[in-house]
Amino acid sequence: MKNKEMILIKSVALEGTRRCNAKCDHCMRGEPQNLDMSREVIDNLLERKNIVIMKLIFSGGEPLLNEDLIIYTIDKIISNKKLVFQIEITTNGTIYSSRVVEKLKEFKEYLKSQFSDFLDTTKDDKISCIRISNDQFHQINSDVLEKYKQEKELSVIKTGNIDILDDGLLLTGRAKNKTFGRDFEYHLKAINVRTIKKDKYFLENDFYITARGDITTQGDGTYEDMDIINLGPIKDFKFIDKKKEKLKKYKKLLTN
Ligand code: SF4
Repeated sequence: MKNKEMILIKSVALEGTRRCNAKCDHCMRGEPQNLDMSREVIDNLLERKNIVIMKLIFSGGEPLLNEDLIIYTIDKIISNKKLVFQIEITTNGTIYSSRVVEKLKEFKEYLKSQFSDFLDTTKDDKISCIRISNDQFHQINSDVLEKYKQEKELSVIKTGNIDILDDGLLLTGRAKNKTFGRDFEYHLKAINVRTIKKDKYFLENDFYITARGDITTQGDGTYEDMDIINLGPIKDFKFIDKKKEKLKKYKKLLTN
């Protein structure tokens, strides 16, 4: 792997679909939409030759309603020999996808066979991960949970209850209308880039790609908010150029 202008991305979340099979009271997204991320968005991300991704997250909506996109993405990672250290599916725990489970296992095998020199073997169990939202608002299916837990090659993480008084995520979308009150303030931040070496950079922010293919550093708003406030489509987005023109432009935008 060449190091020329190499960019390490800390974490990127993909809004694989805006469809959802639940109606949680605390949903910060608002009402679901019949919209899936296209494969072109994945191509735009993974066909960049100079990126390494520390963590790739599938979010939504309910990402397992668009399992084809997850399969496509992992196949693309493998066929393009991309270095992605971890894949995580954040699900509401109502759908068991044997196709995705098998693909996650394949990803783990791929990573261990191709990039063993880069891997921290003590974190081996975190390579392929299913994160199940198990707070007081989600209604997970215990049979589904048990089936995932049977898969010893996967890490299954259950999230716990949410403190509704402190958690800003609960103040937008359906939550705002139903239960918890005040307006959510949407903050757009420039993507921070740190230079590691002369020709090596690290994107410090977690960033998010919406189902429409737009980049944002704030993945916690309603779909409508994110469609208005974002940094533009990934197809037009250079993560860095040497003069940092893009970054300057966004900083200017934010201070206006
Ligand atoms: S919180 Fe998640 S699972 Fe619940 S309605 Fe919203 S997108 Fe769906």
